[in-house]
Amino acid sequence: MTKRERSKDGIWTRAIANRRSNFKILEFKKIMKVYVIGIGLIGGSMVLDIKGRYPDATILGIDNNEKHLQEAINLGVIDEAGSFEDLQKADFVIVSVPVDVALTVLPKVLDAVGDKTIVFEVGSTKKPICDVVANHPKRRNFIATHPIAGTEFSGPSAAIRGLFQGKTNIICEVEKTAFKLQEKALNLFTSIGMRIRYMDPISHDKHIAYVSHLSHISSFMLGKTVMIKEKDEQDIFDMAGSGFESTVRLAKSSPAMWTPIFKQNKEYVLETLEGYIANLTQFRDLLADDNYNAIFEEMESVNKIREILNGITIKK
Ligand code: NAP
Repeated sequence: MTKRERSKDGIWTRAIANRRSNFKILEFKKIMKVYVIGIGLIGGSMVLDIKGRYPDATILGIDNNEKHLQEAINLGVIDEAGSFEDLQKADFVIVSVPVDVALTVLPKVLDAVGDKTIVFEVGSTKKPICDVVANHPKRRNFIATHPIAGTEFSGPSAAIRGLFQGKTNIICEVEKTAFKLQEKALNLFTSIGMRIRYMDPISHDKHIAYVSHLSHISSFMLGKTVMIKEKDEQDIFDMAGSGFESTVRLAKSSPAMWTPIFKQNKEYVLETLEGYIANLTQFRDLLADDNYNAIFEEMESVNKIREILNGITIKK
């Protein structure tokens, strides 16, 4: 990778991109112990792929929800239940809990792990997570990640194989992770099909507010608007086309996961909402003024999103 990847925020630096592109894809020779803390959609899907790629790996799960723990064993998502006391022996620890929970769980995990363990957290915000471990004595055992993949479902039954194939994993503050452990983590990510991108935590939180957090709010509020008007749910069911279904899909997402994300990323989420509300208001005003030429032009200019989305698909 010789050219600068982008952006005006200086998100991905050339130095890091070059250095990273040289790392070797290593096979993990010895039998690995992988711990997943929070066995839901993301943690569960990740260990399914790791087990698929490294069948000799032992997958241990920790979850404060006993039902989820048992379900994960029954579904073959994990091999057995683990405990914090055993984390010393872990090769990898995946922290995959809601982002507010991560703020307390992650430092405890770092307290418990051995020198050769690499811990990664997969939450949808990065600045608060990076800040909470900034001065931890084992900061070099931690790599901050955000896999850009998911669905609207939760819990171990939502875990699916191949979720991360061709998807981007955003890594923040890679230089704060011990080099050997970076290599270990990056090998694992690429071995399950992920592309790696580097970003600083503030840029991550700012950009993700637009492309992910705003979409969820917009879907929740679209769902609310329709539900208030259409009290009879059967009517919604009969009249809803695929457009409505796809736009409102994210409104099925878990409030327990999304409330702390909005709280942690409040500043940037508010910024996106202000822009979005201004656009909605402008559209309403154009319609109220019978300004159909302007409405046509507005939609025509937003049609350019097709090329942008095609570009994203091609790059996968
Ligand atoms: P999920 O399916 O709800 O799984 C989270 C699991 O963690 C649940 O079993 C939950 O149990 C458990 N848990 C909660 N508190 C815990 C604690 N103190 N100790 C141990 N386990 C605990 O959530 P997810 O969708 O996998 O999301 C996990 C993380 O990935 C979040 O930080 C999210 O921001 C991030 N992420 C999500 C997506 C997505 O599309 N969903 C995409 C990328 C990243 P309970 O259900 O009983 O609370």
